[in-house]
Amino acid sequence: MSRKPLIAGNWKMNLTVAEAAALAASIAEGCRNLTDREVMLAPPYTALAAVTAAVKGSVIQIAGQNVGWEKEGAYTGEISPVMLRDVGATMVILGHSERRYIFAEDDELINRRLVGALNFALTPVLCIGETLDEREEGSTFKVLERQLRRDLEDVRPGQAERLVIAYEPVWAIGTGKTATREQAQEVHYFIRGVLTEVFEKKLAQSIRILYGGSVKPENIDSLMAEPDIDGALVGGAALKSESFNRIIHFS
Ligand code: PEP
Repeated sequence: MSRKPLIAGNWKMNLTVAEAAALAASIAEGCRNLTDREVMLAPPYTALAAVTAAVKGSVIQIAGQNVGWEKEGAYTGEISPVMLRDVGATMVILGHSERRYIFAEDDELINRRLVGALNFALTPVLCIGETLDEREEGSTFKVLERQLRRDLEDVRPGQAERLVIAYEPVWAIGTGKTATREQAQEVHYFIRGVLTEVFEKKLAQSIRILYGGSVKPENIDSLMAEPDIDGALVGGAALKSESFNRIIHFS
């Protein structure tokens, strides 16, 4: 089963509208003629429209960094899936560890957001990952399985075809510590096994599983050589076109 690699950049709470548009244009320039891989950028909400315009005609897909689950209504501070689509987004990051641990988003809330995103035709990039304590006490697989099963509740097989999973060990995000390729592959293989139980084998084989956590130009090639690593979710190194373009052009 061939899965098209996806390199995704999460800009978090960084960049003004002008800075984001300039960075996006420079990344789009670096992706010209790419057909064998996909690229996604997740700017802050304020820059979504400008970034959509800046990458027009390129292979880059635009994502929100989170999303509400209703079309509209009294949800102060939330952005709806319809609003994201209105400014050009086709994808959305959900369950990022910064949402889980800084903003206390739990699996129930993440599931609601995920089902809402799918219902409004956004492609979710669902982030799951264990903390350092959980890894050290040997509960990595248990934690990941719990997050996956709960976050994916009520997702229909027809919707799951569009799903992307990002394995992001919390201890590797923004810390400079990367999981080794063997550690990441072991977990990705496990995640695919859980997806096989939640959906079925053929579908699980088609779902892309990205690795995220201090991905850099220096480690992307070896991570991408692993059979179950289908791309990367990149934070810090996505904020400079030189490093992100190098990551996009992994070999
Ligand atoms: C992230 O925010 O999803 C991430 C992986 O960040 P970094 O690449 O900076 O570790």
